[in-house]
Amino acid sequence: MTEENSATITAPASEYRLTVGLEIHAELNTDTKMFCNSANDPQAAKPNSNICPVCLAHPGTLPTINRKAVEHVLRVGAAIDGKFADYTEFDRKSYFYPDIPKGYQISQFEHPLISGGSLVGVAVTRIHLEEDTARSSHHANTTTGEAMDAGDANNSKSLVDFNRAGVPLMELVTEPDIHDAKTAGEFARELQLLLRTLGASHANLEKGEMRVEANISISKTDELGTKVEVKNLNSFRSVERAIAYEVERQAKLLDSGGKVVQETRGWDEGKQLTFSQRLKEGSADYRYFPEPDLPKLQLTADPAFSREKIVSELPELPWERRARYVALGLKETDAVYLGSTLERNKFFDAVLAELGGSATLATLSANYIVSDLGGYYAKSDGVEFEHVMPSDFAELMRMVEGNELSSRGAKDVLAVMAEKGGSPKQIASERGLLQVSDPEALRGTIKEVIEANQSVVEEYKGGKEILLKFLVGQAMKATKGSGNPTMLQELLVQEIGK
Ligand SMILES: [Zn+2]
Repeated sequence: MTEENSATITAPASEYRLTVGLEIHAELNTDTKMFCNSANDPQAAKPNSNICPVCLAHPGTLPTINRKAVEHVLRVGAAIDGKFADYTEFDRKSYFYPDIPKGYQISQFEHPLISGGSLVGVAVTRIHLEEDTARSSHHANTTTGEAMDAGDANNSKSLVDFNRAGVPLMELVTEPDIHDAKTAGEFARELQLLLRTLGASHANLEKGEMRVEANISISKTDELGTKVEVKNLNSFRSVERAIAYEVERQAKLLDSGGKVVQETRGWDEGKQLTFSQRLKEGSADYRYFPEPDLPKLQLTADPAFSREKIVSELPELPWERRARYVALGLKETDAVYLGSTLERNKFFDAVLAELGGSATLATLSANYIVSDLGGYYAKSDGVEFEHVMPSDFAELMRMVEGNELSSRGAKDVLAVMAEKGGSPKQIASERGLLQVSDPEALRGTIKEVIEANQSVVEEYKGGKEILLKFLVGQAMKATKGSGNPTMLQELLVQEIGK
């Protein structure tokens, strides 16, 4: 394979229709592993600390099904409106690798827990449950410092950590239903948000808690082209970029009379390209057969797995939350931003609770959170809402609405709150940002301004209404900017009319 090294590709990729299907794995949040009582903590610092004879595949041990893992998958399935299986069974997927001690992985082949459903308009084929593999790491030859392949005899070492072996893993497969890179990224983002909303998985891509693989093909006809599977996609951006890269690579290959080979390719984040890893074996190679040590799981016979029960216990789902925000009057983009992480929607919902259902204050809050706090965190890389209390933020919004603060002043106060927290009243008063809106406190200033600008006042009375702005400006100056301009204008009109 050499085509992966070409840095610039100029083929007219637009003639081809792109088709993408995604396969996404997610480690599920459970106390124990999928088929034994070892702790589910694959990130544990000490290797091989969460292991037992079952997940090490000692002869004579028997697996038992983790109910919680089954429930997680059913909840995801219910959320995307998938069909629950009447019964399910586990299968052995046979292959040899040092990180798979049994010589097979327990997965689900013929009878996945969930069939169908959709997310961001993309049809889902199935969701099934399986166990994760152990993790192997390959160490360099300590004498020469050269990295070596596993099994190299010259002093290099390959180590296996079984803490991850048997961790419950959900696999979701979509239909080849995606035709642009952006939708693939959106699907993966929305699934991450859903998994987190349901508490089913932490779903961090960079920690391998969620792993995205894309099957990518292009074609000029209705028939699908040869698909290439791309792995190592450690961020949503790399999902999108790898797809864009493959479109161009495959188009160039086809245009020059070549053929796309069915294979697995990796994504090189540093070089921003895909590279060949291995030719793809067909699914028949795995010799799937039903796991004889586990019973068929009759979902319909267990009340805990009933669709009605699972559906009734679902929390507010990401798209329901966005719809609720839009119904409050928020812009679609603000609703997306505020619903995009659990931290953001928790903060915004707490602010809404403080503000007691005022739609005006809800949209005002959204503006300040998205533009000002969002801008601050984007620049500072700080932990969002670490210092800002929802009650303080709500108070700031009431001050803006009540004209105690100008919008400029509110931005300054909010910057301080984002950095170190505090009460907006106190911050505003310490910095002399409080706006005077009390008519009685301002009336004296107004009289002075009128007195000092007699000729302007006469011209204004004579019909030059534009001069009112000038007089408001003079009054603002006289209050050193602390007067509320709307109130000053009202008072000027009142006093001149007397
Ligand atoms: Zn175990």
